Parts: sequence; structure tokens; C-alpha cells
Amino acid sequence: MKHLVFASALASVVVLPGVPAPREEPRTVAPAKAEPLDCFARRTRKLTDRVWVIERPNPTDAPFEGNTTVIELDRSLVVVDAGGSRAAGESIVREIRALSRKPVGTLVYTHYHGDHNLGAVALRDAWPDMAIVSTERTREHMTGAPMDYVRSYAKSYGEMAAFALRQSRDESVSASERAGWARFAAAGPCMESGYTDPVVVPAQVTFSERYTIHDASMQVEVLFLGRANTDGDALVWLPGQRVLVTGDVVVHPIPYASACHPGEWCTVLERVKGFDFAFLVPGHGAVQTDRAYVDTLLEALREIRGRVGELAGRGMELDEVRRTVDLKSVRARFVGDEDGWGRVLFANLFLEAIVANAWREARGEPIVQGREGG
Ligand SMILES: [Zn+2]
Repeated sequence: MKHLVFASALASVVVLPGVPAPREEPRTVAPAKAEPLDCFARRTRKLTDRVWVIERPNPTDAPFEGNTTVIELDRSLVVVDAGGSRAAGESIVREIRALSRKPVGTLVYTHYHGDHNLGAVALRDAWPDMAIVSTERTREHMTGAPMDYVRSYAKSYGEMAAFALRQSRDESVSASERAGWARFAAAGPCMESGYTDPVVVPAQVTFSERYTIHDASMQVEVLFLGRANTDGDALVWLPGQRVLVTGDVVVHPIPYASACHPGEWCTVLERVKGFDFAFLVPGHGAVQTDRAYVDTLLEALREIRGRVGELAGRGMELDEVRRTVDLKSVRARFVGDEDGWGRVLFANLFLEAIVANAWREARGEPIVQGREGG
């Protein structure tokens, strides 16, 4: 995901009438030797004899950073995505070293969003000879304006954490939502320091449709299947292991939509369903072992495209579409009525952007990569 989307969405919440003005925070004395929260910590899960996923403990807690997949070849490792900060990358390096003594030979980026690649600087320091592979589009975005948003990461996170702290103390907010805001606020100082001075490391090797790594006993296929979460998504297919790594084409339990192309995303998800996978590693969140969640996502996208498309066809402007379209039944398939924090994330990470992009698509307008809120 692109964090500024969340920031801009939160900023719009701040100006809503009825939101209480910031209060003076009561002074508290910090515990003498409190351990600072390591918000970039990872843990490793083994999928097959040759494949591991390095994940965040809870994907719905900030910072919202992507999964990393490690694939063991005969003499080296292939890694898919690198975490979203140097600190995350360092945590990933530690996890990789604990599971294999082989060097990382190839790092693949699934897309340009910083939460999947800003940790690469730590992997490059650890394995200077590794090749970095992405689609041409992803390299283009990582060397151009769409990547600019990461420069204000630390500031955005600082502002969001301050807002989160106020929300966590607002008694008019539901208990579940307040708990989510409190967890966000607790990670604030760690995120602010971790996102200062991000280093972008673009791929040196690019491809347009397919890039294959052959090994004596393994085959790694890096594929572009069409525009979906961004206009340059790479997926990784391991036919021998029956593992499909999707990047943010699939995100669980709440999809991300900031730079998506809703129509082609549906086509790509149909192709995803066609792979004979035993494990689907999403861009964020829990590994899937069947097609149920992909079906849920596909149905949601089709329904939203249909409803938004109809309103756009009647000439409605985007703001009016947002006010008019009723997507409660779609939301219910992802988050329940009691899950206040889930609803905040669903609105900010998915709904805001998918409605905008479905509306643009219906009007034949371009979907610009790297645009805040879109
Ligand atoms: Zn992501």
C-alpha cells in the first residue's frame, strides 16, 4: 500500500464536523526502563521444504508492511519483497540468516510501493552481489515521481500517530476502534524514526512478461499477468512447490486499492485462480490455502465496478458517488459490525480508492500511479 493514502484519508477525517479539537495531553512519567516497541519485527513461517514466509505478527497493526518470501535454490536464495524500511530489512536479514547459510542471489520486487522495497538497502548491504528484478514499470516508478511520496513518510506517520492518540482517548469512538488507534499510536515513535531518510534501490534487471530462474531442482517464474494492484505487478510462481506469491494483487484480510486498475484486476484474479497452488502468499496478511478469499475479492470488485459504473454512467461526480453508493454488504464480507478498527482500515485502505478508481475507469479517465488517494 501507499501510506499517504491512509494519511490523506485521515486528514479528511480530521476536518469532519463533530470531531473534537485536540486536547492538551496529560503529562505522564514514562516507566524507567520501558523497552521501545520494535514495530518492524518479523517472524518466519515454513511453507514447504524450500519456501518460507517472513511476516509481521499482526497485519492489521501499523506499520502496514508487506510479506517477504524466501525460496531456497541449490546454491543461493531468491527473496520476494524486502520490507518497508531499513529497520524492517535488517529484521528480514536476521530471519534469513537463521534459516539458511546460502546467500541471497536474487531479490524480486512485486511492485513499487515502498512498504515492499525500502528494506532492500539492508539486504544489499548483507549480500552486495544480489541481483534485483522487477517489471519495467516498477523500475520506472521507483526512479520517477510515483516514488516521491516516501520522502514524507516519517512526517506523515508522525501526524497520523498524533491523530491516532487523540482518537484512542475519544470516548465517543467505539472500544474496538479506540484499541486499534491506541496500537497505531504506540507504534508512532518507532515508525517515525524508521521511516526517516528512506533509501530507494531500483532493480537492475527488468522484464515485461516473464523472467525465469532455472536451477537444477527448482524453477522460479516471475510473471506480469496484467495491471491489477498497480500497472506493473509481478507475481512469482513455483510450479514444483505449488506456491504462488501475489504481492498486493491479493491482500488479506482487507484489500489495498490505492493505485489499482479495477477491471484488469478482475482479469488477473481469474488468472490467479487458474494456478494449481497449495499456498498463496498475499502481499500482506495470512497465507491462503484455497481460492475462497480470492473469490470474495473478485465478487467485491465486480459488485463495486457495477454499482459505481452505473452511477458514473448517470453523470454523477465522484463526491456524489461516494455519498450515494451503498457498499455495506460488500464491507460485511471482509469486516464485521463489531470490528470498528477493521472498518476504519476497510474505508481508508480499500473503499476510498476503489470507488475513485472504478469511477475513473467508468469515465475512461487515466489512473495515475503515485497519486495521493488514488
Ligand atoms: Zn503493500
